[in-house]
Amino acid sequence: MRTFSGIAASPGIAMGKLRIIDRNRVAVSEYPIPSESVSHETARLAKAIDDTRSELDQLKTRLAESNGEEHLFFIETHLMILADERLITETTDIIRTGMINAEGALRRTLHRYRETFSNIEDPYLRERISDVETVIERVLRSMTGEVAEPFPQNEGQIVIAAHDISPADLLQINRRNVLAIITGIGGRTSHTAILARALELPAVMGVDGITNLLFDGHPVVVDGLSGAVVVDPDKESFQNFLRRKQHYEYVEYELLKTVPLPSVTLDGHLIQLRGNVEIPEEGGSVLAHGGDGVGLYRTEMLFMNRPSMPDEEEQLSVYRSMQKAIAPHSLTIRTLDAGGDKLLEGMDQTSEANPALGVRAIRISLSMPDEFKKQLRAILRVSADGPVRVMFPMISGLEEIRKAKALLEEAKSDLAACGIPYDSNIKVGVMIEIPAAVTLADLLAREVDFFSVGTNDLIQYTLAIDRSNEQLSEMYQPLHPAVLRSLRRIVQAAHGARIPACLCGEMAGEPLYLPVLLGLGFDELSMGAGSILRVKQILRRCTLERASRMAEGCFAFSTTAEVVMYLKSQITLDVAESID
Ligand code: PEP
Ligand code: MG
Repeated sequence: MRTFSGIAASPGIAMGKLRIIDRNRVAVSEYPIPSESVSHETARLAKAIDDTRSELDQLKTRLAESNGEEHLFFIETHLMILADERLITETTDIIRTGMINAEGALRRTLHRYRETFSNIEDPYLRERISDVETVIERVLRSMTGEVAEPFPQNEGQIVIAAHDISPADLLQINRRNVLAIITGIGGRTSHTAILARALELPAVMGVDGITNLLFDGHPVVVDGLSGAVVVDPDKESFQNFLRRKQHYEYVEYELLKTVPLPSVTLDGHLIQLRGNVEIPEEGGSVLAHGGDGVGLYRTEMLFMNRPSMPDEEEQLSVYRSMQKAIAPHSLTIRTLDAGGDKLLEGMDQTSEANPALGVRAIRISLSMPDEFKKQLRAILRVSADGPVRVMFPMISGLEEIRKAKALLEEAKSDLAACGIPYDSNIKVGVMIEIPAAVTLADLLAREVDFFSVGTNDLIQYTLAIDRSNEQLSEMYQPLHPAVLRSLRRIVQAAHGARIPACLCGEMAGEPLYLPVLLGLGFDELSMGAGSILRVKQILRRCTLERASRMAEGCFAFSTTAEVVMYLKSQITLDVAESID
């Protein structure tokens, strides 16, 4: 028995025969070339890039026919990487200055990219290297003529392990045979992980060296909940996994039965439970888990890993895919929230001493009104297709929201002048995630149609705790009395102005916090698709009245530890009462 541990990237437990495939590493050698061959090698490189582009275009058409448009976002990303001029200019430079063959030069370019990406702090961005690797491997294959090992189709119940699995590969697998995937690289936010979750395929990623071991054909257990991979499990551990699997599937099965049930409390109060998404692939999964549409669509992904901003048409087409995926439910689109830990190419943020307090989110958008209006027009245009709300991130005061709204009005006029339809009453919201916005919540509430609290940032800025600093994770406390007071103030301000109070930070998806958020009076909670049914289950067992008392009770305590203890005791009391 050999146990490995990786990143739990897509939930579920599966047992099958391990099938190791090695598709992504093309064997290429580097060798010196005479100066007269330089132009031949650069031409080979350019041709291989062209051929790869046509190959991806064909793949896109083929997958659109078999799987629909919904999951094709990643191919666009790959086409964009291929279109990046620097790929060709840097590699050509290496051919010229290093006097080496095109394959060798391209490998060196990839190596440079790897080094650059490995220094990026944000895990989502760091993992984008896997898209670059997939694209470069395709170009290398095109140059060497080496054919990728085909994905196994009918080999019984297998678990595929590979150094990397591209989203395109994932869409081509036969779900009846392939029970789970394991990859050597990647993490929770890689496109492959997002797609695996959308396809409900258990996945463990970042299992170093899994493909170098000689385990092909051996029995394997993959635990996408804990990140464990066990090859040749002994009887006892197999039985343990089997029990966990049965329990997980039983709970999922029971939870899925609740999809059609309304998200109401025992005393009949309806709370909207919505999904947080980053790419259109996730829309279907939100609906499958009973989400009432999307409460937070983070649009940053569309702007990342590219030398220039997406134009209005490109944005419109992606927003349309998202809207179609969740129609007829409503879609809340957040405008660009780049900066801080989500860097855009070409933005020189390395010079910022405090990126979390730097040029980010609405500040970037307001500094580039023309680009911002492109996004606003694209959002407005999709609002003609179904219910869409627009939401501005990191608003700190009235000037910002007024400027953003003025630009929205200009975007409306641009469209009206061209006779392009849009929802002229589109609902406008602000994210409340900066303490200044909490202090000014009553004033901000008069300017907008809804609030959405970004607790991830609000906690960070309220407690001055970097949200991504693992050393401080103990101090990152959602139930800190200062946070609770802020939340109460936000809801009171929203309701005072008769607008809904929504919350879309990670806190929304944690069942323990549900009674508090419900009791504070939140009208809508938006979370990862996988949390919706669990939160709904608790919601359906609470009364608003009891939750309000519980929330109120929290304010009697002055430390987080006391609040946590109080909440746990209240929940234990409830469970005990329900058993009595
Ligand atoms: C938040 O800050 O809580 C939020 C939802 O936004 P993000 O995590 O994208 O900053
Ligand atoms: Mg935020």
